[in-house]
Amino acid sequence: MKSVIIVGGGLAGLVSANLLARQGIRVLLIERKTYPFHRVCGEYISNETIPFLKRHEIYPGEFDLPSISRLQVTSVNGKSALLPLDLGGFGISRYTFDHFLYQKALKQGAEFLLNTEVTQVQFNNERFYVKAGNTTFEADLVIGAYGKRSRLDVSLNREFMRHRSPFAGVKYHIHTDHPADLISLHNFKDGYCGLSQVDGGKFTLCYLTHSQNLKRYGSIKQVETQVLHRNPFLKSVFTNSHFLFDRPEVINEITFATKQPVENHLLMTGDAAGMITPLCGNGMAMAIHSAKLVSELIINFAAGAMNRTQLESEYQTQWNSKFARRLWVGRQIQRLFGNDWTSNLAVNLMRNVRPMADYLVRRTHGVPF
Ligand SMILES: Cc1cc2nc3c(=O)[nH]c(=O)nc-3n(C[C@H](O)[C@H](O)[C@H](O)COP(=O)(O)OP(=O)(O)OC[C@H]3O[C@@H](n4cnc5c(N)ncnc54)[C@H](O)[C@@H]3O)c2cc1C
Repeated sequence: MKSVIIVGGGLAGLVSANLLARQGIRVLLIERKTYPFHRVCGEYISNETIPFLKRHEIYPGEFDLPSISRLQVTSVNGKSALLPLDLGGFGISRYTFDHFLYQKALKQGAEFLLNTEVTQVQFNNERFYVKAGNTTFEADLVIGAYGKRSRLDVSLNREFMRHRSPFAGVKYHIHTDHPADLISLHNFKDGYCGLSQVDGGKFTLCYLTHSQNLKRYGSIKQVETQVLHRNPFLKSVFTNSHFLFDRPEVINEITFATKQPVENHLLMTGDAAGMITPLCGNGMAMAIHSAKLVSELIINFAAGAMNRTQLESEYQTQWNSKFARRLWVGRQIQRLFGNDWTSNLAVNLMRNVRPMADYLVRRTHGVPF
């Protein structure tokens, strides 16, 4: 029987654990943290994922999930545009969703090693050797599902790690007065902030900021009052909401650099293969979709229908055809955000040239799978 080690248990890793264990493949998922836990994420998930999640009985429909069908974009100085989202999405906190997928994978027979960081992965004579804690595990295949950036990338000598990444992400859960069917994307200088509802009637308030804001103003609180509050919509959210965390979730060094979906024979999924800019609201859908692609190919490999070379080459081809363009478009659109002039331009385009706005939203999203 073939064995697979999955490094990292975010959406990409957890979806693969479910799919592979269900097919009787031996799966060990190694995750640095312990479920349930909060993550920095806007927590708006594109409806393109629903048919797949339902087919595999991992759709979290038992939670009361808001359905989101409208997008509001505001510029740095508070101009606003509203447009319908053709495909739309739903809101669910990662605390809830990841824990739900973890419990499903356990039931399918996947094994988990939690609270343990993988520090090295080596490939030798058709076998992988994975060092985690004081133990080295062996496997036929390794899926790299460890997110945007990890110390493991250094040991794998990945190209993008040679460059610093200048973005930080901050997230809160709040109670506020905001329509349940609306996701808002508010610009501020050198960043943007999303607001939408998730399970349990809460809202996720999550922003991406250039690290120079933090350097210049010295603290998150100061960045919020000195920079975010200049957008009147954000000022109103920050001053009229009830914040549920003692302190926000924060991550640094967010990178949108080009990566490779296969490195040193590791099959990379989710953000480890490439991260789309958050304003597209499509990172979670891509993590789930890439987990689907890789798992289906691994199932063929385990059945003897393809060898390792074919598996790696087919995954690379499928990954590029589904996601490479989307990542590129996301990077271009992000350039319009976080600046007075260009964010006004973006809002004006959305107001006055709707077909173009619809086209751009479509290009950053996939189709239901
Ligand atoms: C500010 C911001 C807002 C966003 N908003 C949205 C949104 O609204 N909608 C959307 O679709 N996407 C959004 N995204 C993107 C989305 O969060 C990611 O694309 C998605 O989480 C990727 O899932 P993943 O499984 O690849 O990685 P992750 O969810 O990051 O999971 C990776 C896991 O690997 C673990 N790990 C890392 N290194 C190791 C190691 N060495 N050993 C063991 N475990 C390890 C980590 O602890 C983590 O649990 C946003 C991103 C940011 C930064």
